[in-house]
Amino acid sequence: MRLSVIGCGYLGAVHATAMASIGHEVVGFDVDADKIGRLAAGEAPFFEPGFDELLRDTLATGRLTFSTEPSDLAAAQVHFIAVGTPQREDGDGADLRFVDAAVQGLLPVLSEGDVVVGKSTVPVGTAQRLADIVAPTGALLLWNPEFLREGFAVQDTLEPDRIVYGTADPEGPGVAILDEVYAKALAAGIPRLVTDFSTSELVKVAANAFLATKISFINAMSEIADATGADVTQLADAIGHDVRIGRRFLNAGVGFGGGCLPKDIRAFATRAEELGHGRALRFLREVDEINLRQRNRLVDVVSEELGGSVAGRRIAILGLAFKPNSDDTRDSPALDIATRLHGLGADVISYDPEAIETARRVRPHLTYARTADEALAGAEATVVVTEWEQFRQLDPETAADLVADRLIIDGRNCLDAGRWRAAGWSYRGLGRR
Ligand code: NAD
Repeated sequence: MRLSVIGCGYLGAVHATAMASIGHEVVGFDVDADKIGRLAAGEAPFFEPGFDELLRDTLATGRLTFSTEPSDLAAAQVHFIAVGTPQREDGDGADLRFVDAAVQGLLPVLSEGDVVVGKSTVPVGTAQRLADIVAPTGALLLWNPEFLREGFAVQDTLEPDRIVYGTADPEGPGVAILDEVYAKALAAGIPRLVTDFSTSELVKVAANAFLATKISFINAMSEIADATGADVTQLADAIGHDVRIGRRFLNAGVGFGGGCLPKDIRAFATRAEELGHGRALRFLREVDEINLRQRNRLVDVVSEELGGSVAGRRIAILGLAFKPNSDDTRDSPALDIATRLHGLGADVISYDPEAIETARRVRPHLTYARTADEALAGAEATVVVTEWEQFRQLDPETAADLVADRLIIDGRNCLDAGRWRAAGWSYRGLGRR
């Protein structure tokens, strides 16, 4: 099938490439000429495991092209909208300017029988509004929320755990056309749910609200664990054995970040307020607050361990990305903590296996190391804030030879505390004895 993907960021570039890899003819479109130039040259504009290879192999088939020219969209019958929906600058709601511009830009090339498929995460009510804008062209609009996880984006796009179509007409041709797009995944038995517009929009934000709540729940427990001498990791292990609770997403630490969870829960709570039902989602404000408080807690722990002030003290920060296997530093707790410690006068040196360039773009004033060893050299405190495998595997004996003081602060509770202590380190986690 002939597809277009409008917006080639973390979601769109992977979606375009994955769809072409399974046999469709795809044009990826973006207003960012630099990004399109790099993608067309086979160079991933961000770090995502497996994406580089998939991009190069798929470009070689000739089925995948990239363009900044709107007229190149005309050949496609199905147009995926994958542009950003960031938090508004003047509030907590979603900024829909990019989605609106993408749909307006498509109107001149749309005709009877075309299908516009929204993948971006949007406030409930958006799909119906956009369907009304598209309708005069004769094209149909469906909403097909995206659930990919950065770090697993290729696998999640090719083999999602479910596919949701929001439509005004469940018996109409739009569903059959999307079934053809996703024929391979559907043949593999991946569940597909056809819903109305509102449900499809809510599925996405409800899923993120649930995940965010789970993380903030365990972080709230970690605060109580700290106050009582309990151990939050053992607590999570114990409650996680209950299948109704489950152990995943129950790791206490500096909390969630990235380009989705924080802005999605804020936009969801804001949308509920607009609908006159703010009370129903007031707890999401608390979830957000607990999450942000974790960053203060970690900064306080570092300061406490250094005797009450970080000013002038050499601190190694391990991690900048909001999670491992990504270079994304949007709303990253790790980058935020590095920035705060720097602001308090600490001599901060940060290292991340993949996210230094993205961090440098937004925080050029921070100091970055080329290797973990360089960051550790002379450190009076070492702070792990992104749970990269490389940091989990650090050898406390070797690291001890590099640092000035054997103080390790585990902001992700991802290290083996016993091993570090056995090597003579003073270990601190969050909510962990
Ligand atoms: P991103 O910022 O990485 O990419 C957005 C892209 O859209 C940018 O390249 C930008 O240049 C482009 N763009 C903006 N206006 C445009 C226009 N008018 N025409 C063409 N391109 C335009 O964002 P992302 O992380 O890929 O997220 C995109 C959407 O997908 C958001 O709604 C997000 O919430 C949702 N989502 C993201 C993820 C994820 O893990 N990143 C997962 C699920 C859903």
